Amino acid sequence: MSKKQSKFREEYKNSIAPWYNGWTHLLSIFIPGLLVIGFCSIQIHSPSVWEISILVPLFLFYNFSEWWLHKNTMHRPVKALKGALLPVFDRHTHQHHQYFSARRMSYDTNREWRIVLFPPYALLIFMILTLPGALAIGYFGTTNMGFLLMMLTPIYYLNYEIFHLCCHVRENWFVRNCPLINTIRRHHASHHSQQIMMEKNMNLTYPIADWFMGTSDLNCGLLGHLFNGYSTKQLKKEYASNQGSELDAVSV
Ligand SMILES: [Zn+2]
Ligand SMILES: [Zn+2]
Repeated sequence: MSKKQSKFREEYKNSIAPWYNGWTHLLSIFIPGLLVIGFCSIQIHSPSVWEISILVPLFLFYNFSEWWLHKNTMHRPVKALKGALLPVFDRHTHQHHQYFSARRMSYDTNREWRIVLFPPYALLIFMILTLPGALAIGYFGTTNMGFLLMMLTPIYYLNYEIFHLCCHVRENWFVRNCPLINTIRRHHASHHSQQIMMEKNMNLTYPIADWFMGTSDLNCGLLGHLFNGYSTKQLKKEYASNQGSELDAVSV
């Protein structure tokens, strides 16, 4: 870890309020999220295959939205909307990316979840943004489809938070061997390399949009991207120096 990173970490840790508790932060996201999922699920009655199939394009839309928002709001200072999104840029590019680098991706204690998890009100914003689309789908399609969309938002968001947290935990058997999670750990560690953080590896769940948009550091197909794990075999040569040094990469 560089001196600059080490100094930033100390200063950030000292700035966390004494009353902050990582588990409370996590539960403030997961309890409302699970309640919304539960509420929507009991509103859905005998969904048809056709109704459930709407989840496929919606899931892909969310994956591309995750890619776009990370690239264009978390890594670009958007001055529109009276600068409402500037704190998102500052928090992610200036703070999160200073705190974690490809060389040092892990945190030490769960007080540092303060810089990994989104603020508790993020889910409320996502639900408000989802509502018009859900009402439209409910009106023009079916009520079940509207509630499926309302349910997908917290599912995708909680998935995002779990995967991103797994990207920043210390190396362990689970994150190293769990399919998809091991993939996103390598993918995201590489993204935390300062040289490529503005352009490459923008997905934080499943690298589908990165594969499609050509913003991945791998040179392989979709399945290869999804189940790459820690492997550096398909890595584009120019990104060899951007790999996370905490990962004991499996070059097979
Ligand atoms: Zn991160
Ligand atoms: Zn980023």
